[in-house]
Amino acid sequence: MEKSQYAQEDFLRLIVRLVVEELCKWERSVPIGVSNRHVHLNRADMDTLFGEGSELTRVKDLGQPGQYAAAEVVTSQGSKGELKRMRVLGPLRGESQVEVSIGDGFVLGVHPPVRESGQLEGTPGIKMVGPNGEVEVKRGVIAALRHIHLDPATAERMGVHDKQVVRVEIGGLRGAILNNVLLRVSDQYAPEMHIDVEEANALGVKNGDRAVILLD
Ligand SMILES: [Zn+2]
Repeated sequence: MEKSQYAQEDFLRLIVRLVVEELCKWERSVPIGVSNRHVHLNRADMDTLFGEGSELTRVKDLGQPGQYAAAEVVTSQGSKGELKRMRVLGPLRGESQVEVSIGDGFVLGVHPPVRESGQLEGTPGIKMVGPNGEVEVKRGVIAALRHIHLDPATAERMGVHDKQVVRVEIGGLRGAILNNVLLRVSDQYAPEMHIDVEEANALGVKNGDRAVILLD
């Protein structure tokens, strides 16, 4: 009788420990948003592609406040091939940017470096075609560097800061630990990890799955 009582207590302790571990992980986890290929446009390129003074048509809000998928699409053309119906994401930006996967780069014949959004020095250019015209951007093709958006309160609670590079754990059958995940903290952000379609497929994750930030 006594013996089985000890066994029961051990079992309960084990359960409590596992639950606490899972709760601690949850506290440091963020939802994953998978980015398909897309473009950001500046005012001048919007004018050329869709007409003078044209505006983006908001069709779906994205995970980050104020960011949205537009109804507008463009075709990107490289030396080897093209990608049709690339979604434009709003709002407009200071400089146009074309975000593709490495595989998309092979299709286009344009080889995107892995870059943080907006870091466009030395990146290849591309031609974009819209219903009103076409534009050849001198630079702006990237494969987005995986990153996590955090609001300041969440970053503080997790004990992390802007521009910190962390490791992240992804669960599941194809789960893995990812190095080189950039944290970006701003009051304009909501907690979310952004990876591209190829990374998502390699890891077997879909929108809304969770990634756990590892604090070494
Ligand atoms: Zn992002």
